[in-house]
Amino acid sequence: MAETWTRRLNERAAARRAEGLWRRRTTLAPGDTRRDFAGNDYLGLAGDPRLAEAQAEGARRFGAGARASHLVAGHLDVHERLEQRLATLTGRPRALLFSTGYIANLGTLQALCDRHTPVFQDRLNHASLIDGARLAGAPSRRFHHRDLADLERLLVRAPNDAPALVVSDGVFSMDGDMADIAELAATTRRHGAWLMVDDAHGLGVLGEHGDGCVGRAHGIDDVPILVGTLGKALGSAGAFVAGDAALIEHLIQFARPYIYTTAQPPGVAAATLAALDILEDETERRTQLFERIDRFRREAATLGLPLTDSRTPIQPIVLGDNAHVMRWAEHLGRAGLRVGAIRAPTVPRGQARLRITLSTAHDDDAIDALLEALDACRREDIS
Ligand SMILES: *Cc1c(COP(=O)(O)O)cnc(C)c1O
Repeated sequence: MAETWTRRLNERAAARRAEGLWRRRTTLAPGDTRRDFAGNDYLGLAGDPRLAEAQAEGARRFGAGARASHLVAGHLDVHERLEQRLATLTGRPRALLFSTGYIANLGTLQALCDRHTPVFQDRLNHASLIDGARLAGAPSRRFHHRDLADLERLLVRAPNDAPALVVSDGVFSMDGDMADIAELAATTRRHGAWLMVDDAHGLGVLGEHGDGCVGRAHGIDDVPILVGTLGKALGSAGAFVAGDAALIEHLIQFARPYIYTTAQPPGVAAATLAALDILEDETERRTQLFERIDRFRREAATLGLPLTDSRTPIQPIVLGDNAHVMRWAEHLGRAGLRVGAIRAPTVPRGQARLRITLSTAHDDDAIDALLEALDACRREDIS
């Protein structure tokens, strides 16, 4: 008899459980997020009442929903203002708003590439970048993580009848380390290719103006395609692509994930505008964030915890084994601390980790509690 759906689902579930890779969601009640070390709310803006107020006011003025796609009748004045602010922040002529970062990456890669486009991606790029190239039918070739010699080797061999695209995360989401933008841009330009950087975790955190690891420091000649997301440090939701007018118009014409979806709710765009005001006015938030990162790293190192060399708010503790990671995460959970327990396929097999993220919202007590609980896990392992 042919395979049935029920059997297929049961078998896949059983295989996933057997590997120790079953994923579970936790339902959270509203309330205390000061001990949340799992989120990406690096500046503590997601819970800021000024964003909530801006969102409510945006909904009152424009409606709870945008009513249509951007091209039909959903592109509102608040979206337009947000796009201009994002272009200014990142030092680019234009920006185009998308409803999520996942969709921005799918849309951009699908619109730019076809099955003849050589696409080169860092091995640790975010899943949405890999999926975007797939949607375009362009086979991605992966270069070793942050290894420009390996990239160069692939670029040299690429067929040169179609322009190539090099794609990288700015800050790697599960490792917290950063691409060397200047060198990556130089290598890419030498081969006449374009560079696309997804700065989901850099925007709001890095750069002189919180403009990310690309931002105004690296212009469109170096990074013609810049993607930023608004649901992380900016505490809101959505994403954008920034570049020159030709790129943005191309996306409006050809990016199916842009064209065939309802525009972002206007209140969300209004909340992001409020977040951008705070980013500009309260630069001490970024200073405090880096103080927390320094303190955590200094004290975790003293305790002998296995840190990586990440200098960003993403501070992974790579333990390797799935069960080991789950045990530590559960221990931390019992102490009221939330951390990400990250396993394959999100990270390579054998590199399961706790993904700890720091935020301006954490106070000294929260970081004390985190260090204490991590130390207890480590001591339990030894005994
Ligand atoms: C989170 C993330 C995305 C997806 O952004 P969403 O707005 O959450 O869909 C894309 N790229 C990277 C590197 C990310 O970390």
